[in-house]
Amino acid sequence: MRAPEPQDEERRLAVLKHYQLSDTRPEAVYDAFVRAASAIAQTPVALVTLVDRDRQWFKARLGFERTYVAREGGFCTTAMGEDHPLVINDTLRDARFARNPLVLDDPRFRFYAGFPLRSREGFSLGALAVIDKEPRTLDDWQLRALEELAGALHGVLEDRRNLLQIFDSTYNELFVYDQHANHFTFASQGALNMLGYSMNEMRALQLHDVFPEFGGTRLEMAMRHVRSGRPYTTELDARRKDGAVVPVELHCEIGDQSGGERLAIVAQNVTQRRVAQEQIDILFSAVNVAGDSIIVFEVDDEGTLKVAYANFAFLQQTGYELADVMGESLDFFRKNMPDDPGMQRVRKAIAAGRALKTEVCSYRKDGSSFWNQLTLEPIRGSQGQVTHWVSVERDVTEAIERESHLEDQNVRLMALGRAARSLFGALELRELERRLDAAVREMCGASAAVYVLDSEHSPDPLLLRAHTGHRSITDDSQRRIVVPAGSSYVIDVRRAHPLKPADVTIVELLAQYFAVAAHNASLVAEIEEQRNAVLELNQVKSDLIAMLAHDFKGPLTNILGYADLTSEMGDLNEHQHEYIDAIRRAALRLADLATDTLAMSRLERNEIDLSTEPLDLAQLLREVAEGTNRGQVEIHIESDPPLHGDVRRLRQVFYNLIENAIKYSPNGAPVTIRVFERDGDAAVEITDCGIGIPQKDLARVFDRFSRASNARRMRISGTGFGLFLAHQIVEMHGGRIEVESQEGRGSVFRVLLPLGGQESHARPLRVAVVEAHSEARSFITHALREAGLRTRLVPTAEALLEEDIFETDRIVVDLAAVNMNEELVHKLEAFARAHGAHIVVVGSDPPAFGDAQIIHKPYLMRDLVAAVQSPVTTRPGAA
Ligand code: ADP
Repeated sequence: MRAPEPQDEERRLAVLKHYQLSDTRPEAVYDAFVRAASAIAQTPVALVTLVDRDRQWFKARLGFERTYVAREGGFCTTAMGEDHPLVINDTLRDARFARNPLVLDDPRFRFYAGFPLRSREGFSLGALAVIDKEPRTLDDWQLRALEELAGALHGVLEDRRNLLQIFDSTYNELFVYDQHANHFTFASQGALNMLGYSMNEMRALQLHDVFPEFGGTRLEMAMRHVRSGRPYTTELDARRKDGAVVPVELHCEIGDQSGGERLAIVAQNVTQRRVAQEQIDILFSAVNVAGDSIIVFEVDDEGTLKVAYANFAFLQQTGYELADVMGESLDFFRKNMPDDPGMQRVRKAIAAGRALKTEVCSYRKDGSSFWNQLTLEPIRGSQGQVTHWVSVERDVTEAIERESHLEDQNVRLMALGRAARSLFGALELRELERRLDAAVREMCGASAAVYVLDSEHSPDPLLLRAHTGHRSITDDSQRRIVVPAGSSYVIDVRRAHPLKPADVTIVELLAQYFAVAAHNASLVAEIEEQRNAVLELNQVKSDLIAMLAHDFKGPLTNILGYADLTSEMGDLNEHQHEYIDAIRRAALRLADLATDTLAMSRLERNEIDLSTEPLDLAQLLREVAEGTNRGQVEIHIESDPPLHGDVRRLRQVFYNLIENAIKYSPNGAPVTIRVFERDGDAAVEITDCGIGIPQKDLARVFDRFSRASNARRMRISGTGFGLFLAHQIVEMHGGRIEVESQEGRGSVFRVLLPLGGQESHARPLRVAVVEAHSEARSFITHALREAGLRTRLVPTAEALLEEDIFETDRIVVDLAAVNMNEELVHKLEAFARAHGAHIVVVGSDPPAFGDAQIIHKPYLMRDLVAAVQSPVTTRPGAA
């Protein structure tokens, strides 16, 4: 025999341990092997021996009493070292065994055949042996059969080892308990680890040491179960060696085929599971007490969502029982209603497998709907496929209603803002009433009427009560509310259906706006009235002055004429001559005044027409200078530029300037006139060395009636109108007038007129204003005159149509003042066309009026003036 290496022996023993056979009880399967071997070999003894560190131990034996013999001198110890079966036909004749005690003494073995058993790694474990007390032989068949039997035994051993390895390698903790012997016969490594025992310690334990609750009726029940072939499962606590308790689930089955005495127990540590279960329980109760609805849908093979769970909140909110909804699809909850946009989003998200948060209209069991804010989340399986959907839902109906209510309020506030602007913009009571009615209609769907209550005798008691009580009153049906607006108005609002508190608030607010706007309107009317009175007075004055100035000229001519005649009478003394001269001077001065006044009045009425023609500037200046010359005027013509101008008006301009230069040079210093060209203009400079103009007055000398302080102080007579007129006329020529002056040193007035120009007979636009309202009339007239237009007033359209001599370019018609009907419209249009005039219509809501320009009330004066001044577009069909 080959002596094993010590290292090899240790490894061999370690491998042997894997089979967990040492000192185990006999087992039927191994007993069967020895019976078969004995039968094949026809021997009284057969053994399955395993060789320990120092023993030869029998797992199964037949015809031999001892359970082991010493390793040293064991037959099998020799056989197991062989590669082939060891057959000793007669032990006495074999040197290895002849002196063996088992041969020499009882049982005096004379025949031995050992078939080695090896581990899968090749380590010798022991042998299957057949033994006889007589020498003998085995024929070939017996040898082969025994070899095969040994091979089968090897297989059984390896299976056992594999099985044990499987047990040990899994997390399942396996025990084998022998009820009969009342102790554990096996524990997997996992089981030992779990409980903290070694295998030997484990074997000494009884069932209740490890599973204190597993005894009595429970154990009986387990045994009954397993004996009838049914596994028994229970959950209980296992006690570790250190006294700690481990929750386990026991799964018991029958552990052998013999009498059902052995229990194979698979114990699973359920600590984790219990923790997880606890967590699940907590989560579950949390889900169930959650205020939000939670539904879990399972996705079936066809991809349809089926309810797998619904929490309490969901059931409460929708009125369903859990049984109603389990297994139902999404459509079940839709109550055949069409998908709203939210639901369309839900379906899209499900198809795309994507999470979603949206609002949908949902339905309860009874069909009623509510707004649901829904968060949909897919749950994915290990392959990434969506297996479930969790939907968390919240009833947001209230929030949405609140939101839409807020939106409503916002809309109303904005409408209120618009109404306020509209009311404050109406400056006339009738318009104000109309706008109030429109606002009440828009905001409350009601109509509004305004009553003026100046006495306490109103036919309507509700109006009277609101008026005298200064508070709003609603009638019994709530369809009418009467609200006081200021001290003189009462607003009567009616609606077909009852008014709500919000409507009442709005009506009251509008009433307040109305009161303020009405007050404003009356103030504006008052101011307008005053202003119109002033304007009217102004016009009367200017007309009167014009008339007076005109009528002055006749008597003045007479005075001058008679003064001349008288002075030619030969026999007048010196005094008389002096007096007549004084009369003549005073009359001439009066005539000048009348001329200025008349010019001013004409200017105001825009009655100065400009008629330009080729102008000989040098000649004109010479004439004027000659007329004014009292020996001090010098004239220098440096250039005689060609230009056009209104000779009569320009004569007046230069006359005024030269007269001023002389007048404001009281010391008789010379006055120089220079004519030259400058930057495309003809320039006329009149220079004097007189009193000059103080710096502070210089900017205003061209204003109407403006006089410099030194001229007043020195009592030099004047009206302050000449420069204003000169300025207007020069501007009408497209030119300008400049002044440079120093007080006490003299002044230079410079007139610049554009060179060239052409002949023209410009006159201001003539406008006929058809307006019965005296206030509006003077207002419009004033604005038009200010803009340089020549205006004429006509009280009615009929009056206008009756005029035979008619000269006008525009007709301004106020529809409110003119009782306009279709016939009149046509007549007026035909009339305007015949006279080449153009119509501008003013009205609140004017109808189409041919191709007339339309101005909507209220309007700004500048818009009206612009419309009147705008060039006339070609009139289709105009002759
Ligand atoms: P008036 O009739 O007072 O002369 P004007 O309109 O012609 O009215 O002139 C306005 C004012 O300008 C005069 O009152 C005077 O103070 C001042 N002014 C006009 N021309 C001269 C001048 N050549 N020298 C000094 N002051 C002048």
